[in-house]
Amino acid sequence: MAMASLARRKGNLLASSSRLLKYCSLSPSRGFAASGSDDNDVVVIGGGPGGYVAAIKAAQLGLKTTCIEKRGTLGGTCLNVGCIPSKALLHSSHMYHEAKHAFASHGVKVSSVEVDLPAMLGQKDKAVANLTKGIEGLFKKNKVNYVKGYGKFISPTEISVDTTEGENVVVKGKNIIIATGSDVKNLPGITIDEEKIVSSTGALSLKEIPKRLVVIGAGYIGLEMGSVWGRLGSEVTVVEFGPDIVPAMDGEVRKQFHRALEKQKMKFMLKTKVVGVDTSGNGVKLTLEPAAGGEQTTLETDVVLVSAGRVPFTSGLDLDKIGVETDKMGRIPVNEKFATNVPGVHAIGDVIPGPMLAHKAEEDGVACVEFIAGKHGHVDYDLVPGVVYTHPEVASVGKTEEQVKALGVDYRVGKFPFLANSRAKAIDDAEGIVKILAEKETDRILGVHIMAPNAGELIHEAVLALQYGASSEDIARTCHAHPTMSEALKEAAMATYDKPIHI
Ligand SMILES: Cc1cc2nc3c(=O)[nH]c(=O)nc-3n(C[C@H](O)[C@H](O)[C@H](O)COP(=O)(O)OP(=O)(O)OC[C@H]3O[C@@H](n4cnc5c(N)ncnc54)[C@H](O)[C@@H]3O)c2cc1C
Repeated sequence: MAMASLARRKGNLLASSSRLLKYCSLSPSRGFAASGSDDNDVVVIGGGPGGYVAAIKAAQLGLKTTCIEKRGTLGGTCLNVGCIPSKALLHSSHMYHEAKHAFASHGVKVSSVEVDLPAMLGQKDKAVANLTKGIEGLFKKNKVNYVKGYGKFISPTEISVDTTEGENVVVKGKNIIIATGSDVKNLPGITIDEEKIVSSTGALSLKEIPKRLVVIGAGYIGLEMGSVWGRLGSEVTVVEFGPDIVPAMDGEVRKQFHRALEKQKMKFMLKTKVVGVDTSGNGVKLTLEPAAGGEQTTLETDVVLVSAGRVPFTSGLDLDKIGVETDKMGRIPVNEKFATNVPGVHAIGDVIPGPMLAHKAEEDGVACVEFIAGKHGHVDYDLVPGVVYTHPEVASVGKTEEQVKALGVDYRVGKFPFLANSRAKAIDDAEGIVKILAEKETDRILGVHIMAPNAGELIHEAVLALQYGASSEDIARTCHAHPTMSEALKEAAMATYDKPIHI
């Protein structure tokens, strides 16, 4: 019996190594894999910002690395259907909106401004294609083997891959990193058809500008996509179950942000739930009900964007086969070294607990492979900045005032409005505020919240300040170039421990 099973195993091994050899000779368009990819130090499943960054870093640390990606292109949700295409459309739609509504006040006359939607979508697609190809280039440069296909566990060190070319190969590694990301969260009773009822992916490629758009969910993705189509002419209504938009945001900044979006004619129905969807007519008829229950109303629209969050994606990985645990929300719990409960198997990015953000996934990726390489890795989840890329943008790092209060810490607040910032006034784009929270006794900065055009760029001075445990006085005494929006941060810092100059 034992001899027979040994022979069978030997046979299987020979079969799998011949499949491997076969795979290694595939053409670059089918992914690229160097020979001997059966003894990887690291195999990464998923080529998103978590996975591809982990793979490159691992290769840079001298580890033999293979990355498996099923999509056919690298970059994951972020580059293909997330951060990058949404920011491309946010920029293009902002330019259109500015040309239509702001150019004249700057003395720039344009006789007719029109949207060329196919060209706008084409520019977005070009940006995505260039960037995803760029990562393939980085893989080649860093000698990361790239396997295009769907990976699933055979054992903690073996991944079976159904390649995009219809073959099956086995990729082996001493360490496996699960970086399979997240997917759109479906709502019960609402079927996404990507035409009338779309996810964020469908909302990035609508064939025409809907007259009316209902966004279900007032998180950052819904507000960003709502802004895109609102600027292009759609009447946008956001239906949100909770009492507030972007609940994680500092309350005071959120109020100002909410008002700013309302000024842009975005409508909000808070504490409201969608209980019925009828797509039988030309458009969509939604049945709504107060979140706490009560009288039903209907709302007609042309397109509905379901944007009620994202869920970890582990489907088809066969995690149960090797015993990797998931929590109630489908996430993979990991320890401080990104190790799962199964030795040699790690997980990073959207598939583990923590903020579902691309830059957080990248930090996870680097730290995880540093641990695998026997070095020290570190991610401070309290200092992951969050940005909503509307106009104005809202960017935050550290604690909100509500969180500071809940901690019972004595604190000071310093604020400075962009209305008093010379650069913002010069460019006539002065809606927004900087708010800094610092510990009263030590003046150590606890949180920074910025609503402003380009807040997503301005926030990094604050991230660095928090990283180094800076005080508000440290920022206030740092020379800031004039005239810049960044001076508002300096003034808010002055206001935190002393007095600002320009207000
Ligand atoms: C519309 C939208 C806008 C966003 N904007 C921002 C933003 O501005 N800033 C920001 O920080 N974040 C943004 N995000 C979130 C960001 O995209 C994610 O947090 C980030 O992509 C997570 O990275 P990840 O590597 O963990 O997973 P993902 O990017 O989801 O990548 C996982 C990859 O794994 C692959 N995969 C899954 N299972 C398998 C398998 N079994 N075999 C092989 N491959 C597999 C998938 O195809 C996917 O490509 C946005 C998301 C959306 C939807």
